[in-house]
Amino acid sequence: MMLRLVPLDCPACGSAMRGEPWDTLFLCPHCGSGGILGEDGLEIIESTALLPVPGRRADLWRPAWILEADVTVAARLLADGTPTQGSGTRRRFVLPAFDLPLATFTRLAAALTAVAEATGEVPHAPVTGGVLSTEDALVFARHLVLSEEIGRPDVLGSIRVEVAPVAWRLAATPFERAGDRFRCAVTGTPL
Ligand SMILES: [Zn+2]
Repeated sequence: MMLRLVPLDCPACGSAMRGEPWDTLFLCPHCGSGGILGEDGLEIIESTALLPVPGRRADLWRPAWILEADVTVAARLLADGTPTQGSGTRRRFVLPAFDLPLATFTRLAAALTAVAEATGEVPHAPVTGGVLSTEDALVFARHLVLSEEIGRPDVLGSIRVEVAPVAWRLAATPFERAGDRFRCAVTGTPL
């Protein structure tokens, strides 16, 4: 067996990037740079942070993907075959990039995508647990659009949904302690 060891130093400032053993996404606690662990080590990616809303604290930071994408909804047919209006829009998705049960992921992604606006500087604090690849994040963004379309009041028969990425940013996302659990400090969604 061959084991390849990758130095986890920030490509921008040289500080050590700390993570959990399976982490593939990193935010530098020194300079705020984002990094994706690829074949050739850490690749820099644009980074930012979501800010806690007034009255909430940041007790814990976890990474999320902010994806700008062109979303096309086409060939939207009702169950009885009636064609309906599709759409083409530029949208922003916020997708948790750490490990969560699917139901929690879906609730948090929908809540963050609906409200998260304010972005700021990456905190000088550990932001660990990042494991979600952009490929998988894209699958979830498409799933979010599909859920919205299925949730509309008409009875959908079939549909085509395309999500074409325009830009990716890795965002530190704040959570606050609530009893023995955590909840999102932006949306209030419990983990
Ligand atoms: Zn750095």
